[in-house]
Amino acid sequence: MKTINDFDFKDKKALIRVDFNVPLNEDLVVTDTSRIEAAAPTIIKVMEDGGNCILMSHLGRPKNKENEFSLRNILSTVSDVLGIEVKFANDCIGEAVMKEVNQLDAGEILLLENLRYHKEEKKGDFDFAKQLSLLGDIYVNDAFGTAHRDHASTAVIAQFFPQKKCFGLLLASEIVNINKILQDGETPITAIIGGAKVSSKITIIESILDKIDHLIIGGGMAFTFIKAQGGAIGNSLIENDKQTLALEILKLAKQKEVQVHLPVDVVIADEFSNDADIKIADITEIPDGWMGLDTGPRTNQIFGEVVNVSKTILWNGPMGVFEMSNFANGTIEIGNAIGEATKNGAFSLVGGGDSVAAVKKFDLGDKVSYVSTGGGAMLEMLEGKSLVGIEAILD
Ligand code: AMP
Repeated sequence: MKTINDFDFKDKKALIRVDFNVPLNEDLVVTDTSRIEAAAPTIIKVMEDGGNCILMSHLGRPKNKENEFSLRNILSTVSDVLGIEVKFANDCIGEAVMKEVNQLDAGEILLLENLRYHKEEKKGDFDFAKQLSLLGDIYVNDAFGTAHRDHASTAVIAQFFPQKKCFGLLLASEIVNINKILQDGETPITAIIGGAKVSSKITIIESILDKIDHLIIGGGMAFTFIKAQGGAIGNSLIENDKQTLALEILKLAKQKEVQVHLPVDVVIADEFSNDADIKIADITEIPDGWMGLDTGPRTNQIFGEVVNVSKTILWNGPMGVFEMSNFANGTIEIGNAIGEATKNGAFSLVGGGDSVAAVKKFDLGDKVSYVSTGGGAMLEMLEGKSLVGIEAILD
C-alpha cells in the first residue's frame, strides 16, 4: 500500500483529493472542522518536504453553481486550521487554474473550487479527470468519505498517474483500522448496531455475522425485531415490512453462533419530545400511545457487560434519541462502556454519521481507539465490498 510517506514531494505538486464536505450554518460559516483537521497531516507532510498542495474537494450537492456550495466559503477556515494562508482558484480545471498552479511558490497551497460545479465529476468523465490530472505531479487520495464513489477525482483520475499515485495518511489509517475489525480482530468481537432504521443496516449486519461473536441491537431499529417476535411496542418506530427480514437475521445469527442482544427494557415517552412524560417499561410491554426512545437501565447494564468482555468492538448508530437529553443515557452508557473496554486493551472503532456525532457530543473521541470519518464508505468496506477509490490507487 503506497502512502505519501513513500514519496519525496520536494519541488513537486501534490494534487490531493480531500474530503472538505463540511457542514456550514446559515451564514455559510463552517460549524465542524473535523474533516479539515483530519486532512492536515497529509498536507503538512507535503509542505515539510518542500512541495505544493493543490487541494480538490466537493461541497454539498450543487445544481447550478449556487454560491452556498462554493469552497470559497471555507477558505478562511482551511487557512486557520492549517495555520497558513491558502490561495483559492475560481474553478478546478482550465487555463486560468493552470496558471495559478504554476505561479505557486514552494510550500504554498491552492484550494480549487467545488469539483461538483462540473457535472462531469460525478459522472466519472474521462476527459474531465484528464484535465484535473494536468494540475499535479503526484496524485494523493485522502478522501475516505468518497472512496466508494466512482467519480472523476476519486477514481478515474488515478490512471493518469501510473507510478505516481498514493494514499494520504487519513485514508491509509482508515484502511488499516477497518481491517483491524475485518481481518485481524481479536475475539470476542462485538458489533453494536443502533440508529433509526433496520433497512439501512441490514446489509452490514448480514455481512458481519460471519466475523462477530456478539451482536448488540439498540436504537429505533430494535423495535422491528421485538414486534416480529410478538412483543407489544406501542407507538415506537417500526418498519412493518422488515419484520420477516428481522426474523431471518435472528435465525442466521443463531446458525452462525452469534449471540444477539436486544434491549429488555426501554425509556418510553408519551410524545416525541424532551418535555414528554417518561417511564421505564419492559420492551415487550409498551402501552399504546407510548414510544420507546432510549434503552432502559437493565439493558444498559447487560449491554455494558457484553462490551466489557469484548476484545474488538464496532459501534455504528446510537442507542436512543441522543439528541434529546432525556433519551441520551443509553448512548452515553454504551460509549462509556466502550471507553472502559478500550482502556483495558480492547480495540474499538466507531463509525457512521450519527454515532460519530454522539461521540463528539459526549466527548468520547479520546476514549475509543478509532473514529472513522466515512459513513457510507466505512459501511461498504465492512460489507466486504472493495472501494473503487482504493482499488484505483492499488491498481
Ligand atoms: P441512523 O442514521 O439510522 O444511524 O439513525 C440515527 C437516528 O436514530 C438518530 O437521529 C436518533 O435520534 C434516532 N433514533 C435512535 N433511537 C431511536 C428511537 N428509539 N426512536 C426513534 N429514533 C431513534
